[in-house]
Amino acid sequence: MRHTRLSTTAIATAAAIALAAGPAAAHTTQPRTSSAAARLAREILNTKGISYATAHVEHQDAASLPRQNLLDTANGRPAKTSPWGHAHGARVGLDPRMLNGVLKLRNQYHYTFTISEFVGGRHSPNSAHYKGRVVDVNYINGKHVGKRTGAPYRAFMAACRNLGANLVLGPGDANHDTHVHCQWPTHH
Ligand SMILES: [Zn+2]
Repeated sequence: MRHTRLSTTAIATAAAIALAAGPAAAHTTQPRTSSAAARLAREILNTKGISYATAHVEHQDAASLPRQNLLDTANGRPAKTSPWGHAHGARVGLDPRMLNGVLKLRNQYHYTFTISEFVGGRHSPNSAHYKGRVVDVNYINGKHVGKRTGAPYRAFMAACRNLGANLVLGPGDANHDTHVHCQWPTHH
């Protein structure tokens, strides 16, 4: 009983301190929520129907896989590029407009899909992948992206454009026979 009483007192004291400190204390304990990218990354991670490739096409690097990119972003840390990519493993921020597009491809357009890369992997030298403005998708509604797989990649690509992407590539475009590339523009 004595133990219970002490614990209760300790909790009450902690609550009183938190209450006295007010909103400022609440803010300092959760600085990450101020970032739109962090909030969106967390929301994507909590959304059923969006899945993630567990390997890169070229080499292994768990730290730059797409789900890890989101986990880092959700934790207020920039996403890691792959060592063999043109950003050589540097960390870059994921663009909130791109993340918002990803979320809406699921919640507004109701696609289920697999993200194959954000900033990881190897792309063209000046690719916007290395700026956090691109999502690559290799499965749509359970079908691998390709011209003869039945994956609705054309409609998915149109949805990306409707959501603000200004460079959208897929089957028929060079190096995009097996995935869709949705890229959002720079701020400037
Ligand atoms: Zn791409």
